[in-house]
Amino acid sequence: MNNALQTALTQLDAVSKFMKLPDDIHQTLRNFDRILTVAIPIRMDNDSIRVFTGFRVQHNGTRGPYKGGVRYHPELTLDDLKALAMEMSWKCSLVGVPFGGAKGGVICNPKELSRGELERITRRYTYAIMPIIGIEKDIPAPDVNTNEQIMSWMMDTYSMNSGYCTPGIVTGKPINIGGSLGRTDATGLGIVFTIENAIKHKKMALKGLRVVIQGYGNVGSAVGKFLDESGCKIVAVSSSKGGIYNPKGLNHTAIMKYYQEHGSFDRFPKTEPVTNASLLELPCDVLVPAAMGNQITGENAYKIKAKIIVEGANGPTTPEADQILTNRKIPVIPDILANAGGVIVSYFEWVQDVQSYFWCENEVNGRLKNLMDRSYEEVYALSKEKGTNMRTAAMAIAIKKIADAISVRGLYP
Ligand code: GLU
Repeated sequence: MNNALQTALTQLDAVSKFMKLPDDIHQTLRNFDRILTVAIPIRMDNDSIRVFTGFRVQHNGTRGPYKGGVRYHPELTLDDLKALAMEMSWKCSLVGVPFGGAKGGVICNPKELSRGELERITRRYTYAIMPIIGIEKDIPAPDVNTNEQIMSWMMDTYSMNSGYCTPGIVTGKPINIGGSLGRTDATGLGIVFTIENAIKHKKMALKGLRVVIQGYGNVGSAVGKFLDESGCKIVAVSSSKGGIYNPKGLNHTAIMKYYQEHGSFDRFPKTEPVTNASLLELPCDVLVPAAMGNQITGENAYKIKAKIIVEGANGPTTPEADQILTNRKIPVIPDILANAGGVIVSYFEWVQDVQSYFWCENEVNGRLKNLMDRSYEEVYALSKEKGTNMRTAAMAIAIKKIADAISVRGLYP
């Protein structure tokens, strides 16, 4: 078993004990409704055939259709996807979105694939998982290394095989084929709402707030854009190749332009180079890990100088680090709360697709803010009442709603 799955199960076990969850429900939630492994044979550009491996993991569908992203990564494992699917169940339940958790992906390195190869992998993967996905069954979305274009190919493949247009089969699509206004930046905007809620309780303000963002991709760069506009100081950012630091603050537009031209932040003027590991230990008010999992561990949690950690990525903090940070009184706003903006607006996109009636951006963002604020207050109130950290409170709320749904539905047959 790898780290991510071990972390997810350790967290589930601890919270189940804390909330005195009945053993049968605990066991149900430790298991997975359905796991599919698929072979994806592709004709490469040089005319050879290569077989990739893909997966779709459906964790628990008691509260509604399965929902979760599709990840393309060379080091992807089934255990990673199990952990991530489990997290999606908690996330959807916590914020009151009527979906169950799922996650999928293909073991591949998109940076080494041509556009044609990427399209063929996506189409064959979609075809291979078709028996278990559907508008009312399981709705994929973007995740690490997947985007609007990949969602378009997935939607097209499913539609062509159905014989009619099925926009609601995926979320995170372009607007002109049934996407929702506000979806692209939704995860980032949700993180910004979370930061606002978290600093409010610490009597801090956005103006001049020093923020470090690990991973300036889909999610991290959206956070940076909104925070820069709000007068925060983005003091450090990174990509997978490393990062840059300037205690006086970085300009979002300038660093994005530089990254697009150079493919990295390396040697951006008037900055110090930092590694992805050392960036986590920089002095700042808010640290947003928005890259991969398992970044804040028992080894570096002692050295973190941030006043608050807001998890943009899925699973960036290990249970050991969580304990250290709780002891050090550094609040960690957990992923299932902080980065839920993505799946919230995915839900809005799916609702709009199913109704064929589309909302304006203000409506999307206003409803997103309502759900994010309400969820934050619920988690904060429970953490105060029970004297626990925010992760335990968030997971307890999420698991309770799933457990109640399992109980009231009863056991089949
Ligand atoms: N991949 C995103 C997440 O981890 C979004 C999932 C979705 O919209 O279904 O939350």
